[in-house]
Amino acid sequence: MSQIKKHFRTCNLCEAMCGLVIEHQGNQIVSIKGDPEDPFSQGHICPKAVALQDLHQDPDRLRKPVKKVNGRWKEIAWPEAYDLVTNGIKEVQQKYGNDAVALYQGNPSVHNMGSMLYGPAFARSLKTRNKFSASSVDQLPHHVVSQHMFGHLMMIPVPDIDRTHYLLMLGANPMVSNGSLMTCGGFPRRLKALQDRGGKMVVIDPRYSETAAKAHKHLFIKPGTDALLLLEMVKTLIQDGMEPPEKLLGMTQGWQQLLDLVKLLPEDLCPNTGIDKASAQQLAREFAAAETAVCYGRMGVSTQPHGSLVQWLIHILNLITGNFDQPGGAMFTKPAVDIAKALGKNGTERKQGRFASRIRQLPEFFGELPVAALLEEIITPGEGQIKALITSAGNPVLSTPQGHDLGEALKTLEFQVAIDIYINETTRHAQVILPPTTGLETDHYDLAFHTFAVRDFTKFSTALIKPADDTQHDWQIFKTLTHRLDSIGRKKGRWWQRAFVRWSTPRRLLDLALRFGPYGQLNSWKPGGLTLSRLRSKPHGIDLGALKPCLPARLFTNNKCIQLVPDFISLDITKLLSYGQAENSQLLLIGRRQLRSNNSWMHNIPRLMKGAERCTLLMNPRDAASRHLQHGQKVQVTSRVGSIPITLEISEQMMPGVVSIPHGWGHQTTETLSVAQSHGGSSINDLTDTLELDGPSGNAAFSGIRVEVE
Ligand code: SF4
Repeated sequence: MSQIKKHFRTCNLCEAMCGLVIEHQGNQIVSIKGDPEDPFSQGHICPKAVALQDLHQDPDRLRKPVKKVNGRWKEIAWPEAYDLVTNGIKEVQQKYGNDAVALYQGNPSVHNMGSMLYGPAFARSLKTRNKFSASSVDQLPHHVVSQHMFGHLMMIPVPDIDRTHYLLMLGANPMVSNGSLMTCGGFPRRLKALQDRGGKMVVIDPRYSETAAKAHKHLFIKPGTDALLLLEMVKTLIQDGMEPPEKLLGMTQGWQQLLDLVKLLPEDLCPNTGIDKASAQQLAREFAAAETAVCYGRMGVSTQPHGSLVQWLIHILNLITGNFDQPGGAMFTKPAVDIAKALGKNGTERKQGRFASRIRQLPEFFGELPVAALLEEIITPGEGQIKALITSAGNPVLSTPQGHDLGEALKTLEFQVAIDIYINETTRHAQVILPPTTGLETDHYDLAFHTFAVRDFTKFSTALIKPADDTQHDWQIFKTLTHRLDSIGRKKGRWWQRAFVRWSTPRRLLDLALRFGPYGQLNSWKPGGLTLSRLRSKPHGIDLGALKPCLPARLFTNNKCIQLVPDFISLDITKLLSYGQAENSQLLLIGRRQLRSNNSWMHNIPRLMKGAERCTLLMNPRDAASRHLQHGQKVQVTSRVGSIPITLEISEQMMPGVVSIPHGWGHQTTETLSVAQSHGGSSINDLTDTLELDGPSGNAAFSGIRVEVE
């Protein structure tokens, strides 16, 4: 038996970037624990990390390409798989035009260096406008507002949680998520430190969540009304005479416009929120009086009809109280690979709406259409109708609105291909599936989430397990497909671009990015600056220090000013003020995230599926009593678009009038996913509605769906 060795890496399953120490004997995993020497997460992990080994060993995972023959899956060799895929795409595009092929990229793509580096070239090689991703499922408001205010879609400030004295959170549950668009591995430790230094955390949420349970104060709020509460808070502070400190004010544009806008607001914005005006005003003044404070809002407020407005108001609240670009407030990172700079003009001047979706005219953002348009673009006949779909690491049947209807629509496609390790509710409809390697078999560098971390930090993880000879990484699949699609009569790049692509590998590209980055050898940091080999010599990663003030230098706006009132604000406030309320018999449905669940996947891991049934409908006792419903009974939940059975869990956690179903459930695939299927549950996205959107961004609005429960 070989010796037990230690391997250090970053967990790539979610945004939190927890450091792991993995003991192994060759390819056999002995243990997976938190790495106490990781300077960022300092030993924190969650149960999902331990399941990385199960994911690798899962007998249901595909290890070779498969094609469907007479309804059955058959393993095939890679060359045949590539032929089938490129010919299938080519045939559909020759018959119906380029836009007849659609692409959907799921959430794991952003945690995969290879997909991040090579996916965009593949997407471009398809020459289609019908590109979709998980970004418009839950995070587009952040990007849209950042582009408008700070000039770049990747300029999303994060809470300086390690130094703040007052953390106000809306629609976020970092005790479970460890932060989202706030990479915060070890949130419980950071929260304890905040409380130990006398700080406070206030949570606004329609559910008394795991995070609310740790808060100094929790307030229930009616789903979809967070913007009204924040408007009341901003109005209160402006009427109190508060304005940003002089230095900050000097780098803004639109202060007078903001004052004028506030003057037009109604006297009391709170009646429909569930929080009275006096409490909102007290909250605003408490926030403003804190030594340092920061407001942060995530999933629950990004996935509602006024998600962009909420994100804008969060920035305004931080700005007017002087808690912006200052320690303890909302701050920007200085990552070792600066993807905002790398994207350059692509993230700035390329304004939203250069083209629109065919049916509803929903505007594109950063070259993608809102995923809420995918279903109608498949089922509505006419020129430009989607006839083929490529999915990469995604299961939109479970993770996007009206998932059941989307699943039915997929049956009508002429061609479907998936780049995925599982046959799931979406990929089951494909003709060909190309399975890439999994996490432990790949190098890892978090290109996206170092940019949203609460501390400047950098870490590279080498692959732990050598993949079998006939397997391919995501980046190799994308590179091969791009090359093949480019060589079937499409526009090719210049010779040097093609030579660069042939030379490139993820490691070579990362090395270049580190060398040219702010701490890099080819930048001005110091002699002996960062290169990939220097980073690899530090297996626990390198701490680059606390977040630092960086404005106005880091702004991407043409005039180097923060645009305080983007164009869409006035119109969206008008819509907000007439936002409809649920009828008396209706309840408002929200989602929830669970610690041992990772969106729509990892439900095939036995150790994560142990214990009591988790896909339940949470309902306040008062609502259950008025409907004569009993704890544990099966109920039927019905929305405008669908109806699902689910077990009722009566709980004081829920605000009266609001019910909750966790997202990601509803596995029914019989081909594989044997464990997930036996814990199937029902999909909340059979109830969510493609017509419910955040207007400015086109992001799906999953929160606050009106439902009846019987
Ligand atoms: S919180 Fe996320 S990054 Fe950390 S161990 Fe869990 S899944 Fe991995």
